[in-house]
Amino acid sequence: MLSTKKAFRGGMLFGAFEGHPAGPVESVALPEKILVPLQQGVDGPVQSQVEVHDRVVRGQIIGRCPADAQAPVHSPVCGTVEQVGNLEGVAPEVVCINVEDSEDTVGGQPLGADFRSRPAHEVAEVLFQAGVASMHHDGIPVSRNTRGVDPGNLDTLIVAAMETGVLAVSPETLVGLRVQDLATGIGVLAHALQVEQAHIAVDDESPQFASRLEGCLATEPNVRIHRLGGVYPRHWDEPLTAALAGRRVPNDGRACDVGVVCVDLQTALAAFDAVVRGLPVIEQLLILGGPGYTRAGVVRAPIGMRVGDLIGPRLRQDMEVRLVEGGLLSGRSLDPDKRVVTRELRRIDALREDRERTLLAFLRPGRALHSYGRTFLSHWRASDPLRCDSNLHGEKRPCISCAACDEVCPRELLPYWLSRQVRSNKAQAALGFELHACIECGLCSYVCPSKIPLMEDIQQGKTQVATEQVRA
Ligand code: SF4
Ligand code: SF4
Repeated sequence: MLSTKKAFRGGMLFGAFEGHPAGPVESVALPEKILVPLQQGVDGPVQSQVEVHDRVVRGQIIGRCPADAQAPVHSPVCGTVEQVGNLEGVAPEVVCINVEDSEDTVGGQPLGADFRSRPAHEVAEVLFQAGVASMHHDGIPVSRNTRGVDPGNLDTLIVAAMETGVLAVSPETLVGLRVQDLATGIGVLAHALQVEQAHIAVDDESPQFASRLEGCLATEPNVRIHRLGGVYPRHWDEPLTAALAGRRVPNDGRACDVGVVCVDLQTALAAFDAVVRGLPVIEQLLILGGPGYTRAGVVRAPIGMRVGDLIGPRLRQDMEVRLVEGGLLSGRSLDPDKRVVTRELRRIDALREDRERTLLAFLRPGRALHSYGRTFLSHWRASDPLRCDSNLHGEKRPCISCAACDEVCPRELLPYWLSRQVRSNKAQAALGFELHACIECGLCSYVCPSKIPLMEDIQQGKTQVATEQVRA
């Protein structure tokens, strides 16, 4: 066991924002209906195994791929199937269940804490049947759904036991008392994937959590814990693979293309639940951050719960709110009536909606307005929470060649140059400047004092290139 510091290029450390989520994790009351999509995580759609009026039990498989190429989908509750099909625009195929007040649960056969005595393929099969294999960005290439990756070429596991960015939540809040479960879950994944080494990234702002995890992993010979600063987007797959495994994720590629599997805390905990306790993926920990909530925090919610039912009681009624999933810098708006909790949903932030146009905003740096510039008042009053709203705080202006976008880019790109090529209809020329190396973290757009939508231009460039390739 070894703790190390690693060097990263670019990125940004955010201060405290209003509506910062904190623990403990709360459970939510079950709604009357649950809408379980038959396509979740990185997997393709599966076929319903239930019919209208069937009674289902918590943990029961309700969706399966006939060729067993996609992980199954389970019922998160006990109840009666009311409908199967395209319901209320939620997803192409959904199982709607009327919820019963019952805790009856069925699961797989747990392998228990002695999982290492079982062959790796058996443990991998449990992860697949429990739905863990379709979690995180790229899934876990085990048994049947390897997604074109040869599991024999994988040699490294990276666990991001930290979060970075605006409204990042601490690992203590997410994991709570389950540090030993997390350590065991990491062991489960390492055994199932038969990797030679595992790297765990922890935030050096969470020393107690890091020490407890180190204690739990003390006897693991091939695990290294790395204490990293909370600079965004340090917990993403690409920066971690470069810094911890010394390999560059190829442009438009995945970490597993270079032999690395990256997972987050929830995936490691789900691996523990599946293999040691026999529980499939039927609930999610969701981070609710931002000033739009009466109480920002973390909740445990069943898969299939409508976001509106989940956050409705917590939303502030005295402000207009914009809901964002996937992080404030790189995510997208969501409709609470059409979005339900799924295996890939990790956070829902609620911003203050602010459409007011502020003239010459750059001349009026307030103490609650964040800026990359060190001249802003907020830089000197770092302990004051910063405003968290949807306003751009200024108009788009010409580039002033400040190089702020180059400085923060974690992929060492020249965002303004890429954006200019795309806006001059020369997306093909931008390929020579590694257009596809952009991981769409959104930092360049965020720091630009001239409010140039750099990341959006780059995304548009990628779409243009793809369209041209299809035409050719
Ligand atoms: S160019 Fe891409 S990777 Fe670089 S800062 Fe902008 S969005 Fe992030
Ligand atoms: S941050 Fe904006 S103003 Fe500064 S160099 Fe980049 S594009 Fe130009």
